[in-house]
Amino acid sequence: MLVVMQAHATADQIHAVCTKIESLGYRPHSIPGAERTAIGITGNKGEVEPGTLDDMPGVQEVIRVTKPYKLVSRDMKEENTVVSFPGTDASFGGPGLAIVAGPCAIESREQAFAVAERVYGAGAQFFRGGAYKPRTSPYSFQGLGEEALQIMAGIRDRFGMKIITEAIDNESLELVEGYADVIQIGARNMQNFSLLKRAGRSKKPVLLKRGMSATLEEFLMAAEYVMSEGNYDVILCERGVRTFADHTRNTLDLSLIPAVQRLSHLPIVVDPSHGTGKRNKVTPLSRAAVAVGADGLLIEVHCEPDKALSDGMQSLYPDQFDDLMSQIRQIAPVVGRTVERIGERAMVGAFGRQQV
Ligand code: PEP
Ligand code: MN
Repeated sequence: MLVVMQAHATADQIHAVCTKIESLGYRPHSIPGAERTAIGITGNKGEVEPGTLDDMPGVQEVIRVTKPYKLVSRDMKEENTVVSFPGTDASFGGPGLAIVAGPCAIESREQAFAVAERVYGAGAQFFRGGAYKPRTSPYSFQGLGEEALQIMAGIRDRFGMKIITEAIDNESLELVEGYADVIQIGARNMQNFSLLKRAGRSKKPVLLKRGMSATLEEFLMAAEYVMSEGNYDVILCERGVRTFADHTRNTLDLSLIPAVQRLSHLPIVVDPSHGTGKRNKVTPLSRAAVAVGADGLLIEVHCEPDKALSDGMQSLYPDQFDDLMSQIRQIAPVVGRTVERIGERAMVGAFGRQQV
């Protein structure tokens, strides 16, 4: 159920509707839009009787949402969500593309700072690096844990880039949210519902990766879990799905981008590193991702990929990342986007993200 308030509804009227929803035993989610505020109703007790809210002052209409997801839906919020970072003009879903880059895992201070210097120089606004690694084998490198989080905090202090890193369980999330600017939930945890709910109670934005065999609806439902707990800053990430194809590690599903944008207001970025697993395919698919309308890219970069403790095969050399960025700078304006360094004022220009 969704309560659409009139354009001129007052804050008191919105508050009264929320209080009424609470008194019925449900949870109100008031999401202001450019034109009007919509209030989503969640709770698992069944349907709210629409008549109860219909006649309240300031209410325009009460809509039954037939889709299984509510808060992620464009029915709830027509315009695109922009996840922004106070004090910077970096964002996900704004006119500027969000460029996230860094090694798969933080291996040492030297390794991490060496990559950070290069990706910052090339124009990345966000630095990524795994502190907790969800590895297929328990004998593979599992990450440096809190030490890696401290190293990344040092990178933020030195370069100003915002930090994105994965939480693999409730325990690591506790630490990650203390250090990072964005909490990543990995593909393997896309349906870890208790982790999603915990991330939903965090104050930090969440970058949610698509599970490797998740349908569009399952992906959106995972985002709904986070939002249903009150965290509306969710960034989706397409990172490839398992198919029969064996020329790549995964099959990057770029058709997901316009499909998501049609149904949801949430920003969506593309990770061609995990999406292909092969270094030589990362730049071509980054070009395609920007052309298709993605809100940003997530790219693995390593100064010595041959020695990387994880995902070396798909990590770009810093020179290749420089080249990728210069190609992206050429494509971005064609689709109405800009590529700004963190701290640079966004250029005035068309904002071309389509609402299909
Ligand atoms: C990663 O970003 O390093 C990672 C493990 O990604 P995914 O969850 O997509 O496999
Ligand atoms: Mn990786």
